[in-house]
Amino acid sequence: MATAAAMDRVVVEQLVREVVLQKLAEAEGRDQPKLAVHASARHMHVSREDLDALFGPGYELTVDRPLYQEGNFAAKETVTLIGPRSRLISNLRILGPLRSRTQVELAFTDAVSLGLDVPIRLSGDLDGTPGAVLMGPKGIVEMRDGVIRAAMHVHMSPQDAAHYDVSQGDLMKLRVGGDAGITFERVQVRIGPDFRLDVHMDTDEANACGLHLTKDIELFK
Ligand SMILES: [Zn+2]
Repeated sequence: MATAAAMDRVVVEQLVREVVLQKLAEAEGRDQPKLAVHASARHMHVSREDLDALFGPGYELTVDRPLYQEGNFAAKETVTLIGPRSRLISNLRILGPLRSRTQVELAFTDAVSLGLDVPIRLSGDLDGTPGAVLMGPKGIVEMRDGVIRAAMHVHMSPQDAAHYDVSQGDLMKLRVGGDAGITFERVQVRIGPDFRLDVHMDTDEANACGLHLTKDIELFK
């Protein structure tokens, strides 16, 4: 049977160990970059030429609200997208700033309701993708291609890339906990000097994992 003194030593050692573990956890917490996850509703990016055709020559987008990534914004302007067999998506939001090439990003659900076969692509990788017709207040644009479901990706700075030990184009995993917990296996790394650490998924993916219901989220290789 242990003496009182021995018991005390065990208790004290246990307390010290807990305090040290707590400190280690806090230190790890400080090193861990702050991870944001955002769900993008269907939207489009537009070229100068197509904005002119849709809204009139020289038209400038109006900022509705800034987005988490520096310099990006949701515009007040929307268009109507017309798919095959005249199925429509109205109020398709334009995101700024202007891009060199027009691109529409839909969730699978949107593509199904339009009757369009839409591939999963990284932003800007548009060759061989389906097109659609866009209708604005001043005119119509017939896109030859550019309709995609955006591949899930994570924006990060070179410092964050060093922290995770990943390079441009690498695939990472995103574990979302909670009652509808899912681990996404193909989160593409996009590195930029001004990027904030931020995973982008679409509304189907966000609904599937109950993104809004949990803060238990982890990004790893
Ligand atoms: Zn993004």
